[in-house]
Amino acid sequence: MSGDREIGSFVLQWIKRLRYTLIFLALFFLWVLVRPEPAEQIYQLNGATMGTQYQILVAGFPDRLSDNELADAIAQRLYRLDRELMSTYAPDSELSRFNSSEPGPWVSVSPELALVIERALYFNQLTGGAFDVTVGPLVNRWGFGPLVGQRVDQSRIPSDAEIAELLQLTGSHRLEVSLSPPQVRKSAQVYVDLSGIAKGYAADVLADYFDSLNMPSYFIEIGGELRIKGLKPDGSGWVPAIEKPLDSPEPEVYQIFYSQGRTLAVAGSGDYRNYFEEDGVRYSHEIDPSTGRPVSHSLAAVTVIAPTAMEADALATAFMVMGEQKSYDLAQSLGLAVYLISKHPEQDGFTERFTPAFEAYLEQ
Ligand code: ADP
Ligand code: MG
Repeated sequence: MSGDREIGSFVLQWIKRLRYTLIFLALFFLWVLVRPEPAEQIYQLNGATMGTQYQILVAGFPDRLSDNELADAIAQRLYRLDRELMSTYAPDSELSRFNSSEPGPWVSVSPELALVIERALYFNQLTGGAFDVTVGPLVNRWGFGPLVGQRVDQSRIPSDAEIAELLQLTGSHRLEVSLSPPQVRKSAQVYVDLSGIAKGYAADVLADYFDSLNMPSYFIEIGGELRIKGLKPDGSGWVPAIEKPLDSPEPEVYQIFYSQGRTLAVAGSGDYRNYFEEDGVRYSHEIDPSTGRPVSHSLAAVTVIAPTAMEADALATAFMVMGEQKSYDLAQSLGLAVYLISKHPEQDGFTERFTPAFEAYLEQ
């Protein structure tokens, strides 16, 4: 009995000595049981660039950067690409200076501008001329550019003679580029408009930057052109949506598709946001370089998934010019995932068509 008592008082002594430790451990286990799940942090950033909005979502924030540092690094890169290099709205951007320079000599430019022009010329070839960054004078005359060349007393619809005259100033064959050293040359007074490809390129530049920081998961959107990587903190994939091709203030979803953790580059083009109407006719900002006029067929919107957002962006613009059948055929021959939405007024709505490569993205 006395042995038991000794053991009892020995245990009590230790409990006394360790009481604070025991209280701490009890509280710790209680906290483990009731603590909230670690916050599923998605860092979000919005802003304006290239005459449009950008939205960036990041999961798995890089340790070595603060929110502000990342926001600044993004803003700096976009400012350079837009305002300093590729804007046609800024009269002193590198592109505007090239546009107003005399034809003939090689002009040294940044590696970024040379690369985008080089790709633009490549996509001009690939699309049989449908993608053509030298349509700038026509884009401006139809009132979709920085309004250079349009007088207030002019109708927004140019005459046939005016169109014929402006077509004389277009043609990608009048543009030459070298990547090293980076330089461009025009053999005639052409005016380059990179609006159909620059947003995609900017999304690629940000994605490359995020990759250099080893960021595992992000969703980058610049004016509808996307770069997506990884999974959200809850393990689900980013879910991009194709909007209904309507000019409604609140975008409606036409079709969602699933990234499922895949690395994706996506771009869209359509005739339903940037257009004007006169006498019941809709004139869209996609100009057919072969006619000098806004495209006028039933294709309302195109979504392209490609290895880079720059490629997807250029091809989406080209497909809007080419129309449904030609676009479908080219996308098929390139093995590209493409989703086409056409207008069907008699059915009071739209019909869609997509290439077999797109099917993989429609499954959850
Ligand atoms: P969004 O700007 O809505 O994303 P796009 O990527 O299709 O649409 O770019 C359309 C812009 O590209 C037009 O506003 C115009 O500046 C320019 N553009 C118009 N037609 C062509 C064309 N055939 N080839 C290249 N660029 C074009
Ligand atoms: Mg485009």
